[in-house]
Amino acid sequence: MSLADAAEPHWLVTADCDSQQLTPVMRQVLEAKRAHPDAVVFFRLGDFYELFFEDALLIAPLLDMVLTSRNKKDARPIPMCGFPHFGLDGHLERLVAAGLRVAVVEQLEDPKRARGIVKRGVTRVITPGVVLEQQALDGRTSYHLLAVAAHGRGEVGVAVAEVSTGALQAGVLPHGASLDAMLARLEVRELLLTPNLGGWVDQAPCAAGLPRTVRELEPAARGASVAAADRAVSLLRAYLAEVRPGVLGLLGAPQALDALPTLTLGAETVAHLELLRGNRSGGREGTLLEAVDRTASVAGGRLLRGLLLAPLADREAVQQRHEAVQALLGDRERRTALRAFLRGANDLARTAGRALARLCVPRELAAMRDTLLGLPALREALAPVGTAPRLAALLAMLDRADGVAAELATTLADEPRNQLADGGVIRPGFDPELDALVSLADDGESWAMAYQEQLRESLGLPALKVRHNRMSGWGIEISRTRADAVPDSLRRVQTLKHVERYVTPELADFDARLQTAAADRQALEIRLWNALCASVGAQAEALRQVGAALAELDVHAGFAELAAQHAYVRPELHDAEALELVAARHPVVEQALPHGGFVANDVALDAEGVRVLLLTGPNMAGKSTLMRQVALCCVLAQAGGFVPADAARLPILRRVLTRIGASDDLAGGASTFMVEMRETAAILRDADAGTLVLLDEVGRGTSTEDGLAIARAVVEHLHDRSRALVLFATHYHELTALEGSLEHLANAHVTVREVGDDVVFVHTLAPGPTSRSHGVSVARLAGLPSRVLQRARELLELGAVRATSAAATPRQLGLFTPPAPKPDPRRAALLAELAELDVDALSPRVALERLYALRDAARALERLENWTGHGVE
Ligand code: ATP
Repeated sequence: MSLADAAEPHWLVTADCDSQQLTPVMRQVLEAKRAHPDAVVFFRLGDFYELFFEDALLIAPLLDMVLTSRNKKDARPIPMCGFPHFGLDGHLERLVAAGLRVAVVEQLEDPKRARGIVKRGVTRVITPGVVLEQQALDGRTSYHLLAVAAHGRGEVGVAVAEVSTGALQAGVLPHGASLDAMLARLEVRELLLTPNLGGWVDQAPCAAGLPRTVRELEPAARGASVAAADRAVSLLRAYLAEVRPGVLGLLGAPQALDALPTLTLGAETVAHLELLRGNRSGGREGTLLEAVDRTASVAGGRLLRGLLLAPLADREAVQQRHEAVQALLGDRERRTALRAFLRGANDLARTAGRALARLCVPRELAAMRDTLLGLPALREALAPVGTAPRLAALLAMLDRADGVAAELATTLADEPRNQLADGGVIRPGFDPELDALVSLADDGESWAMAYQEQLRESLGLPALKVRHNRMSGWGIEISRTRADAVPDSLRRVQTLKHVERYVTPELADFDARLQTAAADRQALEIRLWNALCASVGAQAEALRQVGAALAELDVHAGFAELAAQHAYVRPELHDAEALELVAARHPVVEQALPHGGFVANDVALDAEGVRVLLLTGPNMAGKSTLMRQVALCCVLAQAGGFVPADAARLPILRRVLTRIGASDDLAGGASTFMVEMRETAAILRDADAGTLVLLDEVGRGTSTEDGLAIARAVVEHLHDRSRALVLFATHYHELTALEGSLEHLANAHVTVREVGDDVVFVHTLAPGPTSRSHGVSVARLAGLPSRVLQRARELLELGAVRATSAAATPRQLGLFTPPAPKPDPRRAALLAELAELDVDALSPRVALERLYALRDAARALERLENWTGHGVE
C-alpha cells in the first residue's frame, strides 16, 4: 500500500492540501512531505516526533500508536500520531526493518530563542541501506547499499557501501555475470540504479522486494571516459549527499570488489544449505552460522557471516587462514586472552561512523579509547602466535589508529557520563577555559557553604540552608516556624509546605554569575565534544583497518575454539579436482545430537575417477544429511575454518550448486515441480570444473515415468558434459544400473538394519546400491494406520503396483537401452567372497555385518538382473 492510498475519505491528505489554509507549522510539515514523498516524515515538535497526513494513517497501526487529529472540528481533519523524542531509535528500527524510508525533521534553532515559528528542516533520511542509528542496526549483520551504473559497452559498474562503517568497494560486472549472486552474497538492503537498468535488474530474483531508487548520473560522471566502476561510486556518493550529507566524509577510497576470488553460492544454495537462516526456524536456529559462530565481538560475527556467504576461492589465502587457526588452536592460553579482550572490545568501525554522524554518546568513545589503549599489550601478548604470517600481518595493523587513541586519552574524561548535557565528559586539564568554568562552579559550591555559615551566625538561625533548586536557582531556606525571626534584608520569593525561600542581593548576583558560567561551560563542552567526534570520524579509515584486523583475529580465534570444542581438523588443500573426507560429520546435526550420536562417514569424489556419486538408501537413512555435510565442510574450509572430520583433502571450489528439498513459488506463479526444474536448469547451465553439485531427488515432483527419465538425463548430462563433482540422491533404484555404463559414476548407499518389520537407522555409507527402499517400514514409524500399511505390504508382495502400471512399464523401461549382456564380475566376486568367508574367525557382530553386506549386494544384483530382463552372466 502506498502512503497516499492509506487515506480514508474524511481525512485530509497532502494531495488535497491547500497550503494557504494551513498553519505555519503544518506548512513546514507539508514542505518536508513534498520534498520527500517516498519517505515517512518524523516531525519534531517540542519533546515529540509527530507524524501527519497519510504517514499517520499508515504508521499508527504499524507502530501501535494512537491515531488522533490536529484539528478535530474541521470537516477534513489532519490525521496525526506521535511519540516522545527519546523513542526515536526504536521506531526507526521497526520502519527500516519493514523496508521503509524515514525523513527526520529537526528543530534547527533553540525554540526558546526563536523569534516566531521555530526553523525546521530535514536533517537526515534513514533508508534500509543508509542507517547508522545503533538500535536500528544488528551488530552482527552488514547493511549494504548497492549502486549499479550502466556503461555504454554493456558493462555495468557496481559500488557497494556499508554506510555504517564507511567501507566502500567498487568494480565492474562483466557481461553475463550474475547480479543475483552478488545481491545474495552481500545481503544487499537497497539498490540505487541509473535509468534503464530496471528490466535487467528484475531478472535477478534477489532484487524482488528490495527498495530501489533511480537517479541520473551527475554530468561530470557521464563522460565516456569515466570507467564503469567510478560511475557507480559517483552515483552512490551523490545519493548519500542527498540523504545523509553528514556522513559523506566517512566513505573511504573504494577498494576493489572481489580482490580475491570467492566461492559462488547463490541465493538457492545459501537457503538450501541453511547457512544463515533455518528452514524450520526461519531464523538463526539450526543454521551453519549458529553452529560454527564462536566469535567474541559483534564485528567478528559480522565478518564471519560475510565469509560464510562468500568463502574465499584462493588457495594461498585460505591456507594462510588455516595456519592462523592452527596457531591459535595450539595456544589455548593466548587464544583465551584474545577472546576475552575481544568480548569487551568496541566496534571501532561503527563507532567511527556514529561519531561522524553525531550519534555517538560519550561512553561509546570511552569504549573506543579503552579498546585502542589495550592494543599494544594485546599485540605483545600475541607475539608468539605471530609465527603464522596472517596473524603477524593482522597484529601489525593494530597500531594504525594510535593517533586516535592518544587524542581520546588526552581529551576524554576517565569515566564520562553518558549524556553530554550532564557534563563531565572532557578531561580536566585538556582545555584551560573549560577548567576555569568548572572550577567557578566548584568554587561556587564552597562559596555558598561559606555564605550559609555566615548567615547562620549573623541571623542566629542554625538550621538555615543555602540551597540550589533547579526551578528557581540558589535561595535561602528557613523553616516556616522560624519565619518571624527573618529580617527584612532577606526578600521572600516562595512559600513551600514546610519552608520559606528567600534571596539576598548578594545571593541573586552569585546565582546569575553561576548560571552564565554553567551555560558557557555546557556550550564549550559541546563544542569540544563535537570537535572530538569530527576528528574521530575523520580518522575512520584507520579505525576501519584496526577494526577489520580485530574482527579477523576474532574469526580465527573463533574457528580455533570451535575446532577445540568439537575436534575439527585442518583440511589439506590441493590443486586436484578431488575431495576426500574421512569420518566427516554434519556440523549442525552433530551438535543437535547427544555427544557421539552422529555417525561419521567417509566420502570421496574425484574428477579423474568417481565424480558422480549416486546415493540411494531408504527414507530417513541420512542421504540429504550426508550430501549437505560434504558441501558444508567445503564452505567452512574455504571460509577459513577447520572441518568436522578426522581428515580432509579438499580442492578449492569455485561454485556450489544445490537442488534440495521441495520449495514452491506459488505466489510467483511456479509450482513445486516448476521451481525444481528451473533450479535444475540453472545447475546444468553453470556446473563446471571446480563446481560441487548436490541434487536431492530430482524428478520426484512429477510422474515416476517422467521423473525417472529426467533424473537419468540430468545425471548423464552432468557426467558427460562437466567435470563437476556431483552427489545425486535418489529413490529411483533403476538409476543404479548406470554404474555399468557411466565411467565416472559409482553407487553408494546409506544403510539401515532390518529388525523384523522395522528398520533401524544406522546412517552408515557403504559402496554399491541399496537393496530395498523400506518405504513402508518408515511409513509405519511415521504412524500411518495399520490397515493402510497392511494393504501396502499386500500390494508390494503381489507386485500389484507394477501390474496396475503395466501399460507404462514397457515405455518406462524403454527409456533405458539395456546394456549389452556382458559378464558381470560382481556375481563371481560375490560367490568368491562367500566361499572364502572364514566364519569361525569372525566375532558375532562382524559376522552379522558381513552377512548384511553380502545379502545387500546379492539383492542388488538380483534386482539388476530382473530389471534389465536378462541375466548378466
Ligand atoms: P529422505 O529420503 O526421506 O529424504 P534422507 O535419507 O535424506 O531421507 P536425512 O533427511 O538426511 O534422510 O536424515 C534423516 C534424519 O536422520 C536426520 O534428520 C538426522 O537427524 C538423522 N541422521 C542423518 N544422518 C545421520 C548420521 N550420520 N548420524 C546420525 N543421525 C543422522
